Amino acid sequence: MGVLTGRTALVTGASRGIGRGIAERLARDGARVGVHYGRSEAAAKETVAAIEAAGGSAFTVGVELGGRGDAEALWAEFDRHADGLDILVNNAGIGTSRPIEQIGEEEYDRLFAVNVKAPFFILKHGMTRLRDGGRVVNISSGLARTAVMPHNMAYAMTKGALDVLSRDLSKVLGARGIRVNSVAPGIIDTDNTAPFLRETEDGWAQAEAISALGRVGTAADVADVVAFLASDAGRWVTGSWVDATGGSMP
Ligand code: NAP
Repeated sequence: MGVLTGRTALVTGASRGIGRGIAERLARDGARVGVHYGRSEAAAKETVAAIEAAGGSAFTVGVELGGRGDAEALWAEFDRHADGLDILVNNAGIGTSRPIEQIGEEEYDRLFAVNVKAPFFILKHGMTRLRDGGRVVNISSGLARTAVMPHNMAYAMTKGALDVLSRDLSKVLGARGIRVNSVAPGIIDTDNTAPFLRETEDGWAQAEAISALGRVGTAADVADVVAFLASDAGRWVTGSWVDATGGSMP
């Protein structure tokens, strides 16, 4: 028996990276996990296979986010597999590291559609499916609170908006015992950060230097923080912005 046995979770963007780490972690704690993906169906199936190989239970939910009606489509797909849920992790997201001079309206709209609008409407339509006592974790970023990489400004703005959603929705859903928090990773080794970490000469060393702990973060580092908030141990934490940056904040 794990601490989440009998609970159902949905993790968006769980085909790869941090989302996959969270899905595997929640499954290890006993939750049955919906592994959401956009384009990477094969990778999502691999996540499910890894969970099952470790003795857990999972299913895929495939819906591309960022267009009209995406949240309703996601829940329609989810409903085919489960009757309600206890834990929702809004993790799917995209980034950009281009300066303001180079960002056009199309890129700006896409960032906000995937990183802000999608979680907002996933929550709007998911609130009725979340059981009382449920938990919501929105994956933010340390960049929402530090200007250490100002060329990530537009991306950081989306995470700032997501943090307001966490804070204010915690007041709305608190009456039902549902907790809502943001978890803010620092630089984590994933496909998203590979161009900086692995394809620049000193990206890895720079990332190590930013963290007080002198290393680059892993998906598991973030997943453990999410698992705490998803468990009863996190029962008195809501409306919070939880720093999971490995001491990267100034
Ligand atoms: P990643 O490796 O690029 O994976 C992104 C995940 O999100 C994939 O599963 C992808 O699914 C899904 N996704 C992206 N766009 C989507 C869309 N339009 N529709 C549906 N699914 C979509 O990213 P990551 O580094 O793990 O980041 C995960 C979250 O952590 C993001 O919100 C990111 O902003 C945040 N974060 C990351 C870091 C970091 O250093 N890596 C730091 C702070 C915050 P498909 O491949 O199936 O489309």
